[in-house]
Amino acid sequence: MTNTPDYQQVFQEVAAHLKNVDDCGKVASYIPELSKIDPNKLGIHLTTTKQEHYAFGDYDETFSIQSIAKVFSLTLALKIVGKDMWNRVGVEPSGSPFNSLVQLEYEKGIPRNPFINAGAIVVCDILVSHLHNPKHDLLEFIRSSSGLAHINYSPKLVESEKNTGYRNYAVANFMKDFGNIHNDVETVLDLYFHLCSIEMSCKDLTQAFLFLAAGGVNPITNNTIISRERTKRINSIMLMCGFYDEAGEFAFKTGLPGKSGVGGGIVAVHPGEFCIAVWSPKLNSRGNSYMGMRLLEAITTKTKSSIF
Ligand code: GLN
Repeated sequence: MTNTPDYQQVFQEVAAHLKNVDDCGKVASYIPELSKIDPNKLGIHLTTTKQEHYAFGDYDETFSIQSIAKVFSLTLALKIVGKDMWNRVGVEPSGSPFNSLVQLEYEKGIPRNPFINAGAIVVCDILVSHLHNPKHDLLEFIRSSSGLAHINYSPKLVESEKNTGYRNYAVANFMKDFGNIHNDVETVLDLYFHLCSIEMSCKDLTQAFLFLAAGGVNPITNNTIISRERTKRINSIMLMCGFYDEAGEFAFKTGLPGKSGVGGGIVAVHPGEFCIAVWSPKLNSRGNSYMGMRLLEAITTKTKSSIF
């Protein structure tokens, strides 16, 4: 039996070390509301499947989780339509940026995976087709599965994304032309922008995604969120596709499945062990948190945490 590493100590050491490293990232500005965030925020939170908590810095402050929320929409849609999902969206890494249009043309409107924007928009279309009140029902699913009733959308972020989401409109309309968006584009994107606007802290994130480290059951609420088989599939897609054209780099550095968002958050999962969330708003050129990647690389290396 191995001893639990002293995560607290490791967080402090790693953060102290990285203080001396230049953060070359830039806060996302293509969504104007995101550019208002203090670039120096830094939070880390880890929750083990035995419900031990380790925290550092701004771990309790909420921020825009952006594409991390695509894991929630995928989970709910998989529960509703099961494997029919894979007729509409693939499970292959895209190797291209999260908002890219190029592959969609020659792959006839079928997005490579559910985590690039195109794939997440198709997942939203599936939710619009099956939910009575999509925005409300999706939020209720996230609240009940995480046991966190305070989780909410940010109306300001929704507005900001709607006003500047030209690429997402292009992607959605393009897929509509191929017949892979069944509902009205405006309605689907309204759900997509709400999904991306969700605000949570690192602490909330580790609680909400702990089910992926525990075979589909949230150990805190004892709720079964999804089957063990589908938990495997979600983790696998995170490992292969969670960081877009940097998915290989993240897997190489951390050896864990994870998901990033342009708000600077990253969640990573060690099945059977823990869920960790980090937040540092400045992004690298691929739209992933520059310091967040470095933090997770250092933490997983120091604690020898990896699925491999
Ligand atoms: N809301 C963002 C967008 O649609 C999400 C991108 C991300 O977090 N990678 O561009």
